[in-house]
Amino acid sequence: MMKYEAVIGLEVHVQVRTRSKMFCSCPNRFGAEPNTLVCPVCLGYPGTLPVPNHEAIVKAVRAGLLTHCKIAEVSKFDRKSYFYPDLAKNYQISQYDMPFCTGGYLEIGGGKGFSGQDLAERQVGITRIHLEEDPAKLTHFGKFTGADFNRSGVPLLEIVSEPDMRSADEAYAYLTGLKEIMRYGGIGDCDMEKGQMRCDVNISLRPFGQKEFGTKIEIKNLNSFRAAHRAVEYEMARQAEELDAGHTLRQETRGWNDDHGETYLMRTKEEAHDYRYFPDPDLMEVRLSKEEIESIRASLPELPEAMRRRMVADYGISRYDAEVLTADQDVASWFDRAAAGSDAPKQVANWTISELLRLLGETKTAIADCPVKPEQLASLVALIAKGVINNRIGKDVFAEMFRTGTAPDEIVKSKGLAQVNDDGAVAAFVDQAIAANPAQVEQFKAGNAKVLQFLVGQVMKVSRGKANPQSVVALLKEKLQ
Ligand code: ADP
Ligand code: ZN
Ligand code: MG
Repeated sequence: MMKYEAVIGLEVHVQVRTRSKMFCSCPNRFGAEPNTLVCPVCLGYPGTLPVPNHEAIVKAVRAGLLTHCKIAEVSKFDRKSYFYPDLAKNYQISQYDMPFCTGGYLEIGGGKGFSGQDLAERQVGITRIHLEEDPAKLTHFGKFTGADFNRSGVPLLEIVSEPDMRSADEAYAYLTGLKEIMRYGGIGDCDMEKGQMRCDVNISLRPFGQKEFGTKIEIKNLNSFRAAHRAVEYEMARQAEELDAGHTLRQETRGWNDDHGETYLMRTKEEAHDYRYFPDPDLMEVRLSKEEIESIRASLPELPEAMRRRMVADYGISRYDAEVLTADQDVASWFDRAAAGSDAPKQVANWTISELLRLLGETKTAIADCPVKPEQLASLVALIAKGVINNRIGKDVFAEMFRTGTAPDEIVKSKGLAQVNDDGAVAAFVDQAIAANPAQVEQFKAGNAKVLQFLVGQVMKVSRGKANPQSVVALLKEKLQ
């Protein structure tokens, strides 16, 4: 049994999706030829003047409101000075003591955690969210390094959590939840492979029951949530071993080697930078009126967690199904429309998960291009509920809907797929199947009850799937008595 408790706080950077960069009019676009989206401002030429991007500020406020932060009516930009090849000005425009957002929280837990165990519901405090500019991107090519200034000046949010997490699963859930909110809120795409979301993990251990925190270790640049999870578990074990051996830990910054699955020392506290923050004299304070903040609040979408709870309560679906359905915002709203127009929302959820998501995946189709309208799935489910078609035929109809976008009742009509409920007609199918399978009929009569399932299948086959399955079972039993 582990005798230490982990204390974890995360610092996450999220690139804001905007048309132009933070302080100039260069496009904010990933993937262009290096150093083609640049100008004197984002190349740090002396004598140029930054002009703040209003769209980025609005999105910073949205991020704060979606995480229950207090939004400052007055904030300002500061210069963070350091010397590095990714920073042509030798300072980064950031925010120091007056960020846009402070004192919020994010809800995590309520389902299964990354490692499969239940994760209790809790709030993780958010200390602050500030807006800054991304430096250039450095790429190392063996003997030399390339700097791509297309990234220089891209608006970047830094989201700092309170040291409120206690396990790798909680850290993982926080990161997933944060990404989901940033995407739902239209703040950023958070594609980690494109560097649009980056995270540093701070972690310390303390004996269970101790109030004071232990010495914090910062792990830089985790490039996936899974890596963050692994790094936390690795550090918990490493720090526990150090403490057990009676060593005192120093405050240090470590890197993560994903191939080796271990952290390594980068620098100790003594080498820490002094960033010499001071207010940027080129930029005025930013003032946001109460009205402006309220109008941004009024434009916010429903949050995924709230959506999941509503779906569980209103549609009677499981927590797990709600998680699957809200993993993608567009899928969630597609399902919401289908379920809202149905008397059997739980069935609609089953069809969405098992058939729609499968077909979308197999055909690599985005939900936005889905040929099936949400209302059409609702009517398919209604056709099955009314007994017009059975579930089996429903799958073929759905596949056809997905191929052609045709409404289900039209497909049923034009292909003559309506279920045969007439007992006389079903009886005829039953007779045919009995006549064609004398050996199995004998087995059933001799007491082998399991053969019934086979015979049911034969009747369905004779009816080309259209016989009402309940009538088939009833009539077969009757005739075989
Ligand atoms: P620094 O000044 O070194 O950047 P901060 O106080 O700004 O430190 O905290 C940075 C991050 O580290 C925050 O996410 C915070 O929650 C977390 N943190 C602070 N102290 C600890 C600790 N003792 N153990 C784990 N995380 C911590
Ligand atoms: Zn520029
Ligand atoms: Mg800090």
